[in-house]
Amino acid sequence: MKIYMPRDMCKNKSSHPATSSSSRKQSRQPAKSGLVSRLAAFNALKDVSGGRHLDEAMRHAGDLAQRDRGFVRLLVTTVLRRHGQIDRILGDIMTERPAGRTRDAIEILRLGAAQLLFLETGAHAAVDSTVDLMRAAGFHRMTGLANAVMRRLSRDGAAMLAATDPQDNLPDWIRQNWTHHWGDERTRRTMELAMMPPPLDITPARDPAGWAARLDGVLVDDQTIRRDFDGDPTKLEGFEDGAWWVQDAAAALPARLFGDLAGRRVIDLCAAPGGKTAQLIAAGAHVTAIDTSERRLGILRRNLQRLGMSAELVKIDGRRYRPETAVDAVLIDAPCSATGTLRRRPDVPHHRSPADIETLAKTQGELLAAAAEWLAPGGCLIYATCSLQHEEGEAIIDAFLRRPGNRLTIDPVTVADAGLFAAALTDAGTLRIVPADFMSLGGVDGFYIARLKSGHG
Ligand code: SAM
Repeated sequence: MKIYMPRDMCKNKSSHPATSSSSRKQSRQPAKSGLVSRLAAFNALKDVSGGRHLDEAMRHAGDLAQRDRGFVRLLVTTVLRRHGQIDRILGDIMTERPAGRTRDAIEILRLGAAQLLFLETGAHAAVDSTVDLMRAAGFHRMTGLANAVMRRLSRDGAAMLAATDPQDNLPDWIRQNWTHHWGDERTRRTMELAMMPPPLDITPARDPAGWAARLDGVLVDDQTIRRDFDGDPTKLEGFEDGAWWVQDAAAALPARLFGDLAGRRVIDLCAAPGGKTAQLIAAGAHVTAIDTSERRLGILRRNLQRLGMSAELVKIDGRRYRPETAVDAVLIDAPCSATGTLRRRPDVPHHRSPADIETLAKTQGELLAAAAEWLAPGGCLIYATCSLQHEEGEAIIDAFLRRPGNRLTIDPVTVADAGLFAAALTDAGTLRIVPADFMSLGGVDGFYIARLKSGHG
């Protein structure tokens, strides 16, 4: 039987709870254990549903102790990851969702459900803390509903959860797209992986084996160190000294596909925050790093300083850039939907729509066309996106190669070049990395990578 939500609950006359002065006073009161964290998680979820990116929402979550910050992040990421399953279950329990001035109360019910269904919080603690949070957030008239929903979840939640599927957490348009291009099974397994917290992947500037031992990690190939970690990586040994940077194992592949770069001039287009720039510099290249975002270039600058590396930084829309002389190599790590990174960024499906893919694909095609003009004869261009959308990968390269006057061709990636990722090689000589294909490694980000070469003139 569904829990009925009286209509007048949608017409709470009080001002918005999170911004009213009374609720601000409440949030400064000495908190019951965990209430401050849950309130921070509630606010972060509202921010994300209002369009803010997860990392930014977490930065706005306020002054929290490191341990509390970890708990808030766990709460928020669990709700975002399991959004579809949680909403299916809540939809089966309630006759309707909170609406109007109380619409944000749904985030509190989602937080309660996440704790009961996925975080193994005890039933009493989950019920009580959800009711307390309703009150603390100013939704006084919703406490009865919270109590009823949480009690029903503690009784029947496990059975209801068994009738859902991790794929419920994908918007239909992404699920249909992936199923069409990568198949049912790979979509299913990719979503299973996306439900798990990601490992920490590290690229050391030198001595990978030594750093793997010091950081208590394993080398997944000869250059990426992997370990479980849910804290703040900047506190680990070697970070401040610039010995390494954080980078998913698959994200480390595009820059490696250039081969020997010692003394070469390379343009890193779309460079910030600079994981690949650092790899190019570590490989001995003279790098011009371009990005359109001043803020992100600032992060790149600070990252390079920490690593003791230098590059020429240029803030410009890559489509308008003209180098003074042609270069040996160009890396385009194009802006994309980032649907390959769901495990690290569970907010991605909440911010993307099919219209975004069209807009991004247009920009990607234009960046590629501009960058192709910068290459010296015999030069190499690598195009990469951390997207699982065919439209941002294969379709961009296919359209580019068909352009009249195009002088670039695919330079097929070999099994030796691909190393750990050889299973991702396509018949076209490009790489399509679907996370499901790398489960034995513990998963990686999804990527598309193509290597192109320019004729010798
Ligand atoms: N290569 C980076 C790394 O490894 O750390 C990640 C790059 S991120 C996928 C894409 C970047 O492209 C963003 O920093 C964004 O600001 C930048 N960008 C977006 N549109 C651009 C444009 N038209 N020209 C140059 N950079 C652009």
